[in-house]
Amino acid sequence: SREWHLVARPQGWPKPEDFALREAPVLQPGEGQLLVRNTHMSVDPYMRGRMNDVKSYIPPFQLDRPMDGGAVGEVVASGVEGFAPGDHVLHGLGWREYALVEARHAVKVDPDAAPLSAYLGVLGMPGMTAYAGLVDVASFKEGDAVFVSGAAGAVGSQVGQIARLKGASRVIGSAGSDEKVRLLVEEYGFDAAFNYKNGPVLEQLKKAAPDGIDVYFENVGGEHLEAAISVLNPHGRIALCGLISQYNATEPVPGPNNFALVLGKRLRIQGMIVNDHEALRPRFVEEVGGWLRSGELKYRETVVHGVDNAVDAFLGLLRGENTGKMIVSFGD
Ligand code: NDP
Repeated sequence: SREWHLVARPQGWPKPEDFALREAPVLQPGEGQLLVRNTHMSVDPYMRGRMNDVKSYIPPFQLDRPMDGGAVGEVVASGVEGFAPGDHVLHGLGWREYALVEARHAVKVDPDAAPLSAYLGVLGMPGMTAYAGLVDVASFKEGDAVFVSGAAGAVGSQVGQIARLKGASRVIGSAGSDEKVRLLVEEYGFDAAFNYKNGPVLEQLKKAAPDGIDVYFENVGGEHLEAAISVLNPHGRIALCGLISQYNATEPVPGPNNFALVLGKRLRIQGMIVNDHEALRPRFVEEVGGWLRSGELKYRETVVHGVDNAVDAFLGLLRGENTGKMIVSFGD
C-alpha cells in the first residue's frame, strides 16, 4: 500500500519535492479497528497550515509520517461488531491507499443515497462549513444581501446557493476565472458575480452590490476583506471562514487599511472552525439533503485520478484549478 509523507516543511508555495509517496505494509485490524481500502480522499486548503510547524487548532503533519485528512473507502476487514466487509465509511485517514481506522472514528455512509465523493464535499465538511458559517456565524436572515469570495469552490458555491434558497435579497460571488463567474450566475443562481483577476475588487463589488451587503462570507482575505468592509452596511457581519490568499505568504500580511470602518459601522467579524457546529448537523442534513434531492441545490467536483496524483491535486487546489470540491479518486 502506498501513502504520502511530508518530507520537508514548505517555505511559501509547496513544491512536489516536499512530499514522498512511500510503501507501507497493509496491517490486519485489531479489536475495534477496520481495514479500509480508500476509494476517495479529500485535499483541502487547511492542509497547507498543517504543513507548518506551528501550534493551531489542529496539530501539524509530522515529517516522514503519513499525512491525514478526510477520506471514504470500503471496509475490507473488520475487528468490530456493526461494521462488515463491503461497508463504506467516512474517516480521517486519507493520503494512503489502505487505512487502519479506529471504528469509533469512522462513520458509515450510504453509496446509494449519494455518490461517495459527496460525503467529502457537499454533504461533508465543506458543505457543513457553508451551512454553519451562514446560519450560526453570520447570523444570516431572510432579506440579507450576501457576498461570498471563493464562490466557485466547495464551500463558496454552497454558501451562495444556501443564501439564495433561504431568501437572500441578493447574492454576489467572486471567483478567479470568467468561466467560474459564468457558472455562478447561470447554474447556481447568483444575482451577480465577478472575476477578481479582471480589476480591483472594490470597484467590481460596488458595481455588483449597489445597495451594499449585509453579510460577507470570507474565504480569501487581503483585498477582498478590505473591499467587503467598505461595502458592508451598518451592523453587517463577516463570517471569517478562510484566508486562502495568504496561506503561502512568507511575510506577515498587512491588515485592511479601512479597519476603522468596523467601528463606525458596528460590524461583527467572527472566525469559525466547522467542528464547533456539530449541533447544527441534523438541520444541515435535512435541509441540504432535501435541496439536493429536489435539484434546487447544485454542486460540481473536480476529480483527479490516482493516489500518485494526490499532491498535484492539492497544489492545483491552491492554484484554483478546481471548480467545486477537489477530490482524489483511487478508483479503477
Ligand atoms: P475551494 O474549493 O474554494 O478551493 C480553493 C479555491 O481558492 C481555489 O479554487 C481558488 O479559486 C481560490 N483561491 C486560491 N488562491 C486564491 C487567491 N489568492 N485569491 C482568491 N482566491 C484564491 O476550497 P474550500 O471550499 O475547501 O475552502 C474555501 C475556504 O474555506 C478556504 O479558505 C478554507 O481554508 C476555508 N475553510 C474553512 C473551514 C473552517 O472550518 N473555518 C472549513 C473548510 C474550509 P479561484 O479560481 O476562484 O481563485
